[in-house]
Amino acid sequence: MEVKEMSLVIECPREYVHYNFLVKRGFSDGEPTMFFAEVKPNCKGEGDVYHCTPLEETDSGHCFACNHGAKDLMHPNAGGYLGGHKEKGSFHMELVLDSDDDVCYL
Ligand SMILES: [Zn+2]
Repeated sequence: MEVKEMSLVIECPREYVHYNFLVKRGFSDGEPTMFFAEVKPNCKGEGDVYHCTPLEETDSGHCFACNHGAKDLMHPNAGGYLGGHKEKGSFHMELVLDSDDDVCYL
């Protein structure tokens, strides 16, 4: 998989990581599918994944935190993610992507 956009969402006392990643499907020539995931920072396993869903091109779910600094990060219209709904006290931080490390066990 290929991580495209990533954003740390801080809503005291909770923190979430929102990110988009592309999954190329097996051996088919089809277009890769974009996914949205919300995980705990320092996510270690599936239990730390709050939400993970494929995205449609038309998805543009709202997220106060990501809208501040990660406008390209897509969120599902159907919602389901926990972070980014509060206007006050939610903010975004750039995360440095380290392509050698898997972000999370998914
Ligand atoms: Zn977000």
